[in-house]
Amino acid sequence: MSDQAADVVIIGGGAAGCAAAYYLAASGVKATVIEREGIASHASGYNAGGLNPLEGHGWPDPLMPMALQSFALHKELWDALPAETGIDYNGRIMSILKVALDPGDLDDLRATLETFNSAPEPGFSAEWLEREDVLALEPRITPEVIAGIRAVGNGALDGLEFTQALAAGAEKLGATVVAGSAVGFRLGNGKVESVVTSDGEIACGAVLIAAGPWCRTAEQWLDIAIPVDPLKGQIIRVRPDGPGLDYELIGGGSSMYAKPDGLIWCGATEEEVGFDLSLTDEARDDIMRRARRLMPALSSAEQVLHTACLRPVTPDWLPLVGQAPGWDNVYICTGGQKKGILLGPAMGKGIAEIMASGSTDISLEGCDPGRFAGSS
Ligand SMILES: Cc1cc2nc3c(=O)[nH]c(=O)nc-3n(C[C@H](O)[C@H](O)[C@H](O)COP(=O)(O)OP(=O)(O)OC[C@H]3O[C@@H](n4cnc5c(N)ncnc54)[C@H](O)[C@@H]3O)c2cc1C
Repeated sequence: MSDQAADVVIIGGGAAGCAAAYYLAASGVKATVIEREGIASHASGYNAGGLNPLEGHGWPDPLMPMALQSFALHKELWDALPAETGIDYNGRIMSILKVALDPGDLDDLRATLETFNSAPEPGFSAEWLEREDVLALEPRITPEVIAGIRAVGNGALDGLEFTQALAAGAEKLGATVVAGSAVGFRLGNGKVESVVTSDGEIACGAVLIAAGPWCRTAEQWLDIAIPVDPLKGQIIRVRPDGPGLDYELIGGGSSMYAKPDGLIWCGATEEEVGFDLSLTDEARDDIMRRARRLMPALSSAEQVLHTACLRPVTPDWLPLVGQAPGWDNVYICTGGQKKGILLGPAMGKGIAEIMASGSTDISLEGCDPGRFAGSS
């Protein structure tokens, strides 16, 4: 790999790095993505693929505007990327069926109802469902159910194939993906002159750090703070003894994601255990106990796959998208937390436009990487 050169080197082939590569390539900037374990080998390949732009940590302010822009970009991408790359990642509109199993859950239902019915953009709505309406829509839900809402307008996709499609789309537009590990920078004149990899060096005009929860590795290379930490998520795919779900189903502490192949993905844990990726019986039992309470018919479901991966989370739960403090040609794109697939296109397009032209129309309020300066 020695003596290679790229306009931009991107460290990390997850959704953040691949989206940036795609939008950079679309604007004529040639990027080289360096990825040490394969495109989408971590969270970007094992997430639930839910696209809910109206709710989450950091919502409504400041993240909802970016989320809505990203959702609009997703819709453009799912019209274009499969045709450009031959990779179909099942981008689709997906409604939510959210139910209360305990009286204490009713306030949360009312809040989601209000959020969908007052969404700042068209296409979203929600309706209240009495117990019998819920059971008519999905008879396998527990008879314990008290009430529910049906919320319309969200999206869903297959995260692994989506990220692979972004990488393939970027390559078709002139980007390069290389296997390898970034292990340092060669610095000169206040800039990164080249990225040192396990196999040599790649000279670059600029570098983008998009290494997910591993971004902190670059703190010591640059003497800056990049406070992103891993939040482990274990999730279980099951094959129900019967048809799949028509909705994303939420209730009783369980979230179930409907997949086009009929599988139901039951999730997910949120564990602050560093970079531990082990699969635990405790997490499996807890996920499946909650899932069976919501849908007792899952007692006979076949467990198909149990996975664990790491969400990149900053101390304030807002992404880091922009120029690295104190470095002319270093940029950061990470911190997608539980929404990194939803936010991926906006984060990638935003950073690509900043790198290519110095400004962007993507709303990046609260995402300046410089806000943690001095806290390394
Ligand atoms: C269980 C679970 C469910 C989720 N569900 C959803 C959901 O429904 N909707 C949603 O929007 N989001 C969801 N997420 C969150 C989403 O998956 C993440 O926010 C997103 O994938 C992060 O993407 P990333 O590119 O920043 O990081 P990653 O996917 O972690 O990619 C970083 C890449 O960098 C590489 N790398 C690291 N260091 C180096 C180095 N030195 N050299 C070379 N390569 C390096 C790694 O190998 C990795 O492939 C979920 C996450 C989990 C865990």
